[in-house]
Amino acid sequence: MDSALRDSDAGLPDALNAARHGVAIKTIRRWRRDYQRRGLPRGQTHCAVPCPRCDGAPLDERSYSELLGWYLGDGHLSRGRRGVYNLHICNDTRYEENNERILSLMTRVKPGGRPHVRRSTGCLILTVSWKHWRCLFPQHGPGHKHTRSIVLQPWQRAIVEAHPAPFLRGLFHSDGCRVLNRVRRPVAGVMKYYAYPRWQFTNYSVDIRELCCWALDLVDVPWRQSNVHHISVSTRAGVARLDELIGLKR
Ligand SMILES: [Zn+2]
Repeated sequence: MDSALRDSDAGLPDALNAARHGVAIKTIRRWRRDYQRRGLPRGQTHCAVPCPRCDGAPLDERSYSELLGWYLGDGHLSRGRRGVYNLHICNDTRYEENNERILSLMTRVKPGGRPHVRRSTGCLILTVSWKHWRCLFPQHGPGHKHTRSIVLQPWQRAIVEAHPAPFLRGLFHSDGCRVLNRVRRPVAGVMKYYAYPRWQFTNYSVDIRELCCWALDLVDVPWRQSNVHHISVSTRAGVARLDELIGLKR
């Protein structure tokens, strides 16, 4: 029994554990339950979800690319008990479709994950736990993202190169906005008002801004650095293309 519980702690799925110890799956579950009743929690179900990095499990790369964008924008990892990491993404309460979308991305990247939602001032914090979030987001480290270097690993770059639009969606829908620029201009002696839509991405990390520009280059959308922390997409064709690729924030 101790050996089976140790394997369960190490993340061995119940079915394999049962086979290894020559007992029924429900016996493994009962042993774990018995331990939990005595205040000794063992073997959590989230250990059993295999990792794309450690175990070669399949990864929904399109969803991952977008979740990576959200993570770099408004996400972070925290370390829980027993080597489990919590992925938290904060998003404005107003954007209901995006909140649903983040939950769905979380469960597509961690199949069987059960995200939970907590309300904070003006925003929702969407969280899902997994031992392997650190494998998928190796950019995790102490301190704020803008105080450390954020470099994608080659396998992450390959995923974003294959799916740049979802990555941009995650970035712009978390740390970006689409604004209307109003300008006043004389036409034949009469002042006229024009409104131009513009996408703007704001992040304090120079590395994350560079990743945003790199992904915009991948989809041929022209950008400019409009201010020390801002990247702007303001040509008519560029805005139209970005609207088509990432949709409006809802
Ligand atoms: Zn892993």
